[in-house]
Amino acid sequence: MTDGNAPWDVAIVGGGNAALCAAIEAAEAGARVILLEAAPEHMRGGNSRHTRNFRCMHHGPLSVLTDTYAEDEYYDDLLRVTGGKTDPELARLAIRESEAALPWMERHGVRFQPSLSGTLSLGRTNAFFLGGGKALVNAYYATATDLGVTIRYNAKVAHVHVESGAFRWLELESGERITARAVVLASGGFQADIDWLARAWGPAARNFLIRGTPWNRGEVLRDMLDQGAESVGDPTQCHAVAIDGRAPKFDGGIVTRLDCVPFSVVVNRDGARFHDEGEDVWPKRYAIWGRLVAAQPDQVAFAVIDAKARGLFMPTVFPPESADTLEELAGKLGLDPAQLAATVDAYNAACRPGAFHPTELDGLATEGLEPPKTNWARPIDTPPFHGYTLRPGVTFTYLGLRVSARAQVQSGHGPLSNVWAAGEIMAGSILGQGYLAGFGMTIGTVFGRIAGQEAAAHAL
Ligand SMILES: Cc1cc2nc3c(=O)[nH]c(=O)nc-3n(C[C@H](O)[C@H](O)[C@H](O)COP(=O)(O)OP(=O)(O)OC[C@H]3O[C@@H](n4cnc5c(N)ncnc54)[C@H](O)[C@@H]3O)c2cc1C
Repeated sequence: MTDGNAPWDVAIVGGGNAALCAAIEAAEAGARVILLEAAPEHMRGGNSRHTRNFRCMHHGPLSVLTDTYAEDEYYDDLLRVTGGKTDPELARLAIRESEAALPWMERHGVRFQPSLSGTLSLGRTNAFFLGGGKALVNAYYATATDLGVTIRYNAKVAHVHVESGAFRWLELESGERITARAVVLASGGFQADIDWLARAWGPAARNFLIRGTPWNRGEVLRDMLDQGAESVGDPTQCHAVAIDGRAPKFDGGIVTRLDCVPFSVVVNRDGARFHDEGEDVWPKRYAIWGRLVAAQPDQVAFAVIDAKARGLFMPTVFPPESADTLEELAGKLGLDPAQLAATVDAYNAACRPGAFHPTELDGLATEGLEPPKTNWARPIDTPPFHGYTLRPGVTFTYLGLRVSARAQVQSGHGPLSNVWAAGEIMAGSILGQGYLAGFGMTIGTVFGRIAGQEAAAHAL
């Protein structure tokens, strides 16, 4: 069969979790399916290959999940992080269908493991993939291949041709045309297109690091919006965290995170503090520091700790800069030595005696300091001193395509008759702002499955 001319039943754009779930469902329904992944084979799997877990509703223990995580509790958790910016129908659908998704994932090759005990207490809410997202992606590629799905790598889709409310063909960057009866768009967000990010965010975005794949550049999203598809989400909203400033521009993944902030003093390029480092436990504040650092000059910050804080947080992938004096450390970090020493002196003078409890809010706060540090405020006085550079790391963008509860893409003139979307490209309906750990994979799995079923039903 030649890819180029055969009218496929279902074409899938993308090669991450949502695309693979759609491909598997469509193939199981009997459709002839082609999956087009922009990345080369060894880089396949998009941001999904960086993931570790998915969030799952369940009544009673399910696989590795303990106890019960009911729909209303899950939905309340979502409302808290999004501040209510969600589509209740789509959100509840994703939540409800997650319970059936877990055994489906296991049947299609995904293996789970219990979450780590300790700082991450997610054993009730989040199922962790054994071997991480890469193992999940590899398992799905194997399953899809066994089901007869044709997989094309280095196959970047440049244009989705829509005419009279229906999709007609795909055009690859190479110029090749692919014709299919139905299409599922699962090509992620646009965060790897730094120019687009800079248009939405301003020039500061050029200093952002992208935590995931360089292939999620939003070509398909832009093309669909240009052709009248309805958008959801705010182009200026993205999920960003503070990561190690030495991380690569793209694809640093999960290991570049830094958890030292609550035990540190964080200064900007000018050696000045700018936010309460001890506001809350780190899992609750992790996500706000991306934006805080993004708002600083040159979009950079520096977390400084002393010997007492080593070992209180998750080990870092790169060792810190270290020195016996703050002045020497400042030199290594590119900061003004006198300014850093003055900032740390002022902070130390504002620290008060009291009990220090690293794993809970201990109320050990500074006095008379602006901004204050409201927990874990111990003097930074014990050499060697250590410093980490922080940069904003973008996880994904929120602007996307509006879909129905059957994952069908909407235009100003109603639904496009044979176009479905799943995963990050439509997640903005459900995640209007903020983020709930593990929900990205839930959205991709649930809507990927629906999109695959619907596209196959339309084509057959
Ligand atoms: C470091 C990191 C850790 C994360 N951890 C978690 C976690 O533990 N749990 C969780 O739920 N979420 C996590 N997320 C978010 C999660 O990765 C996403 O929500 C999820 O992977 C989205 O799946 P997707 O299939 O929509 O997109 P992706 O997996 O990103 O797939 C998009 C695919 O589209 C392809 N593509 C892009 N453009 C084109 C084009 N023009 N033509 C053809 N193909 C194209 C890409 O190559 C890629 O294969 C994490 C993200 C990152 C970056």
